[in-house]
Amino acid sequence: MSEHVTKHYPNAVSFDHFFSMIDDQLRGAGFSPAHAVIGIKQCRDDCNYTLRQYIFERYGTPGYFSLEVLAGLPSPGKTAYAALAHHLKDAAGQGPLILLDFAHIGFDPTGTLGKVARHGRKNPGANCGALVGYVHAMMKESYTIDDAFPADKDPEMNKLARLLEPYEQDIKTAGTKSFEEALKAATIKAWEISRKIQLGDILSVKGELHGHPVILAGGIHVNTSPPEQEDLIVPFGEIVLLHE
Ligand SMILES: [Zn+2]
Repeated sequence: MSEHVTKHYPNAVSFDHFFSMIDDQLRGAGFSPAHAVIGIKQCRDDCNYTLRQYIFERYGTPGYFSLEVLAGLPSPGKTAYAALAHHLKDAAGQGPLILLDFAHIGFDPTGTLGKVARHGRKNPGANCGALVGYVHAMMKESYTIDDAFPADKDPEMNKLARLLEPYEQDIKTAGTKSFEEALKAATIKAWEISRKIQLGDILSVKGELHGHPVILAGGIHVNTSPPEQEDLIVPFGEIVLLHE
């Protein structure tokens, strides 16, 4: 594991490690991961294909239900969660729903946080691009949410900025050290807000889960660049099993 990553995130783990923790908890509660349906809320970024692909390989067809939005932050809405609930397997004792929630952050080949080397691009680019764009815009003196991210033309970013509005000062304070620290602060806050909203979203469709258990897990997906071989996960919060 790269020392650049461990300097910022000493508790980062491999995908195998992270998903084994989820599966162990499911088995311990008497459920088979083979029956699971996966919902994943993460950023739309193509860099996150590593996680999408891993889920396909680990859990098989049909893979996952996408709850993806920019930065993984605004909720895709109640209808998305209701649809996901309707895709759980019918048979009694089956399920469960593995509900994943990830923010993401990149490291470029020199170890700079907030950038990643993308396929076919000469220079590393912003990652998470949405959160990097948000932090840059918000730190300008002339910033207003509706000028930077008009609700009609940029609805996901507008919503993201509104959700982060109460934490602008905290992010700016972190930014007095460095842009990396501002981005880290925004990333953690975005994940915390997202987790809270996601819990509310899934509880709002509880009646449609028909008693299937729900496991909530997530954290920061670390996008690495060559020569690093694999992405990592910084687990946040507890892995929680909701079961009636
Ligand atoms: Zn992103």
